[in-house]
Amino acid sequence: MTNEDPIIIENLTKVYKRFTAVDDLSLSVKKNSFTGMLGPNGAGKSTTLKILSNLTRATSGSVYLNGYDVALQPKNALENVGTVVETPEFYAYMTPRETFRYLGKILGMSKERIATETDEILEKVKMTEWADNKLGTFSKGMRQRIALGQSLLNNPDIIILDEPTSGLDPRGMAEIREILKDLRRKEGLTILMSSHMLHEVNDLCDRVAVVSRGKLIVNDDISNVIGVNGVRKIEIKLINETNDDILEKIKNICNVTEAKYVGKKSIEIVLKGGLAEQAQLLSDIGALNIQVYSLSSAENSLETSYLDLVKESI
Ligand code: ADP
Ligand code: MG
Repeated sequence: MTNEDPIIIENLTKVYKRFTAVDDLSLSVKKNSFTGMLGPNGAGKSTTLKILSNLTRATSGSVYLNGYDVALQPKNALENVGTVVETPEFYAYMTPRETFRYLGKILGMSKERIATETDEILEKVKMTEWADNKLGTFSKGMRQRIALGQSLLNNPDIIILDEPTSGLDPRGMAEIREILKDLRRKEGLTILMSSHMLHEVNDLCDRVAVVSRGKLIVNDDISNVIGVNGVRKIEIKLINETNDDILEKIKNICNVTEAKYVGKKSIEIVLKGGLAEQAQLLSDIGALNIQVYSLSSAENSLETSYLDLVKESI
């Protein structure tokens, strides 16, 4: 952990009456990363994000945004931070443009800046054509796009999102994910997003912080997590049909613990280790001269790792 990390959570605990929702959780989020806080319902994700956004107080521990303690210097801490944490209560009779004007004023932005940013943001969240319609007439997905939009006002360098696609239909989910993918390219922006959906985190994020029962289980690059517990499953596809000879050669490659046919022309490999071992596998397979045209992570490998990690924590 370095003090330059834009989001730092230190020994955070939150107790509701006698129930411990967040249990001595420490996590630091790297600048420029898109971190998914992944965990089952009730894991303590929303509670953590609410404490970060100063919507509720910690029982003990501290959280820092851009180096400022949120509880002690909330104004400084939240100055360059956009959030979508609790379902935002917009005024139904206001339009997106009016809502942004109102929120921008609260943020102390000039009229001109509000106007320019409003146009840019509405474009980004694909709501330009609805800029002057009343929010009361919008679908949940459209309201969520506006919620995401307001978090971008005043050009924040951190955004904190609590399950931004939750409760949306598949199309609404896809639209939000597209916007998040675009945001990922914004230089200097650090995003922390909670989700209970593994494939969503896999699709969008580069880092994953797995939380279970209020505790942090892992905080790492997604590509490394896939390799946790020796469950890096890889599928290779060959131009020609496989045979026992090929299978045997693959089994003999260093760190391969299992290899089996999953079709006439493909083999599933279980590899012990992380990215370095996968790189080695790639070169060893190349040396076998067996005309492999594709090598990919087997679909369920992140899921396997995640389920194993959560199971182990219980
Ligand atoms: P998540 O967002 O990961 O689903 P939450 O942070 O919402 O988890 O909740 C963690 C646990 O804390 C849950 O068991 C939930 O019931 C409990 N909890 C959350 N908010 C409150 C509250 N205001 N009062 C009492 N218990 C709460
Ligand atoms: Mg939640």
